Amino acid sequence: MFRVCESCGEWNEEIVVSSDGAAVCTHCGHHSPLLRLPLFQITGASGAGKTRVGSDLPAALPECVVLDQDITLAGLPWEQHRRNWLRVAANIHQGNRSVVFVATQLPEHYELLPERGWFSEIHYLALVSDDDKLAERLRQRPGWRGATAERIEEMQDFNRWLKANADATTPPMTLLDTSDARPSETVAAIATWVRERLAPSGQS
Ligand SMILES: [Zn+2]
Repeated sequence: MFRVCESCGEWNEEIVVSSDGAAVCTHCGHHSPLLRLPLFQITGASGAGKTRVGSDLPAALPECVVLDQDITLAGLPWEQHRRNWLRVAANIHQGNRSVVFVATQLPEHYELLPERGWFSEIHYLALVSDDDKLAERLRQRPGWRGATAERIEEMQDFNRWLKANADATTPPMTLLDTSDARPSETVAAIATWVRERLAPSGQS
């Protein structure tokens, strides 16, 4: 559907999207309809609550497909890892269900990739927390997750960076403070945030 042209049958190395949102064959120029839906990214520092969201959000948001991007971490270069995930999401979107990714990704990681054109928009929500709460959660983790003092400081820096810069990224990110929220409240707030941004069914 994406790589083999339905008109000339040739293999397309890159998938080109026209300004009106169709996939264009690089050999014969044939336009195939492409459903361009909004894509969602839940990001944040370690300790901000992503792991719990990754396990609880699927049941709270059954109209979307929620995917934990860490399941495929296998040493691929980051750009290839991200491009692969965008391709998977675009394929799922052809069934008219939006994908919600959970992992630490930022607008700068996606917005310049060729696959960006396959989506109407990518919406970003960053989970943030008070520094103390973040450190407390990281210290409670088992040793293999490597919550050293240095790692905790690094995550606190990133957490502060998110709070300071969410308005300045392109597009801007929405912040959700999880410091005093129960996990169920965080999950419900994310489900609401996604639903407010879903296109009406069938609209590309
Ligand atoms: Zn063709």
